[in-house]
Amino acid sequence: MTNVLVAALVGNGAVSGAVLDLLGGAADLAAQTGGQVTVAALGPGAARCASALISHGADLVLTCEEDALATHPGEAGALALVAASQATGATVILFPADTSGRDWAPRLAYRLGAGLVTDVTGWAEADGRLVWSRLVFGGKAEAKMASRRPVTIATVKPGAAKARRPDPERTGEARDLGLTITPDPAWPQVLETAVEQSSGPKLEEAKVIVSGGRGLGGPENFRYLAQLGAVLGAAVGASRAAVDEGWVPATWQIGQTGKAVAPDLYIAVGISGASQHLVGCSRSKVIVAINTDPDAPIFEHARLGLVGDYKEVLPTLTEALKEMLQK
Ligand SMILES: Cc1cc2nc3c(=O)[nH]c(=O)nc-3n(C[C@H](O)[C@H](O)[C@H](O)COP(=O)(O)OP(=O)(O)OC[C@H]3O[C@@H](n4cnc5c(N)ncnc54)[C@H](O)[C@@H]3O)c2cc1C
Repeated sequence: MTNVLVAALVGNGAVSGAVLDLLGGAADLAAQTGGQVTVAALGPGAARCASALISHGADLVLTCEEDALATHPGEAGALALVAASQATGATVILFPADTSGRDWAPRLAYRLGAGLVTDVTGWAEADGRLVWSRLVFGGKAEAKMASRRPVTIATVKPGAAKARRPDPERTGEARDLGLTITPDPAWPQVLETAVEQSSGPKLEEAKVIVSGGRGLGGPENFRYLAQLGAVLGAAVGASRAAVDEGWVPATWQIGQTGKAVAPDLYIAVGISGASQHLVGCSRSKVIVAINTDPDAPIFEHARLGLVGDYKEVLPTLTEALKEMLQK
């Protein structure tokens, strides 16, 4: 029996798509062994998320809305997660491989003496134990790993699991963890939070992404991507080269040292296809590449490739799609 705990950071009573995907994977894993799925929902409005989490596969939702989770998220979250794991006897604890997951997972692994596998892209049962997959060497190889510890913690990349269709009839239990968290002066503290202004979907949740690289030649040319993105309802991303040039914010970066994305459609414009970029977008269902160099490595990974100057290709493509989608 595998009891699974999913860690979820909650913002104003809303749960991210990444958490719901993870919950789907956790529910499948627990169902195979007759175990239970618990979500530790941490943050303001956590209790309001309980019914949505139960309808997506949680058997138990443990909530904590302590102010310290906002001011001292790393240590306060770790305390709440230790309490949640002790309350459930979870042997597998899953985190989204996002900022909060990467902050919490090692803190919890240290406290529980658990095994930790990061940036997992999948898992399967083999010979009675769980085997985790993750990409290594900039995405050129896949490592299979198993933990020797009784408790295993994993941070999971987008696209590794899929949310279940919500079932409003599903029943489960929700209760508060009952913790009072008093921050220690030595704990790292959040001093300022800046919310990035953005009109389109978030990169991590977008179904379509238009991404630009050094081949765009300058920041002003990202407008071509924005125009295509507006027609497709897409988010705009970038390669590290475009970020390093200072053309776009670092939060747009996709790849090994940026974000991992898993959209249905990824349009790479003026991006050569370095392995460090591909590791962030290789879980896209369809990759389309636009590049002047017919030998660019990106074409080896693209389902569709257009050899040409994006300044000619994109306006035509944008107009054609606009016309098609208006019909
Ligand atoms: C440790 C480490 C981590 C890294 N992490 C990341 C990461 O997270 N994300 C990432 O992206 N990179 C990362 N990199 C950098 C990576 O190795 C590449 O340098 C980078 O991805 C290249 O970006 P690019 O494809 O935009 O630029 P380039 O490699 O310079 O490619 C530009 C492309 O644009 C094409 N082009 C030029 N003009 C046009 C035009 N008019 N129309 C169409 N196409 C045109 C060219 O043919 C070329 O293929 C990392 C590197 C290291 C060492």
